Amino acid sequence: MIKNINKTRIVLVGTTHPGNIGAAARAMKTMSQDKLYLVTPKTFPSAEATARATGADDILADAKVFPSLKEAISDCDLVIGTSARTRSIPWPMVSPRECAKTISEDQYSSVAIVFGRENSGLSNEEMELCNLVLQIPTNDKYSSLNLAAAVQIICYEIYLLTGNDSEKGPVESTAALVKQDKMEMFYQHLEKCLIDIEFHDADNPRLLMHRMRRLFNRTQLEENECNILRGILSKVQEKIK
Ligand code: SAH
Repeated sequence: MIKNINKTRIVLVGTTHPGNIGAAARAMKTMSQDKLYLVTPKTFPSAEATARATGADDILADAKVFPSLKEAISDCDLVIGTSARTRSIPWPMVSPRECAKTISEDQYSSVAIVFGRENSGLSNEEMELCNLVLQIPTNDKYSSLNLAAAVQIICYEIYLLTGNDSEKGPVESTAALVKQDKMEMFYQHLEKCLIDIEFHDADNPRLLMHRMRRLFNRTQLEENECNILRGILSKVQEKIK
């Protein structure tokens, strides 16, 4: 579990399209990241970056600009470079999930995730400043994601590990679950109804009610759901009278 999500900075190197800087800021904000470092961006600040940030302009306003990658990461104890392609010189590789896990380790207090230029990625010299290389698994014939999409995926994996809302999964119902005595009454009602409509033969019951119990045991009914089912059974009985 990451104790301090804010130990991570997103470093964009030599970004050419200001729109990508804005889109990256937006991707970061959705995933609770707020430290944007820009190394020699072609155009910044820019109206296009602000427009693409849609609501994440606070991250753009706080972004720090550096003349070199070395300066942007000088105070980091872990630097992770990202690359769309496998490099000719093998470097320790991690997936986005492994990256998130590594970042969560207590021994790291200040982590940089470094993204390259749209047309040429990171140079070999820049890669040499990185402890690890992260490659997002892709279609092997087309592996180059849009810069902001790559930022989004990596920040998402970090977000999943932080114990934020995402871990809670879908909102769970707080409605009362039906108690066993009510379920017994439901089974009796169901059996009676199935006999009434001649679906079930009380003299030759086979495994029908056993199967029905197994079915309903797989899903825990809420009280009002049980009431609805009882209401349906009553209506069926009323109609066939
Ligand atoms: N033609 C460039 C692609 C750059 S895409 C190249 O060959 O490297 C711009 C940036 O987005 C990359 O430098 C990297 O930081 C990120 N990126 C794009 N696709 C990625 C992938 N599959 N895995 C990791 N990072 C990726």
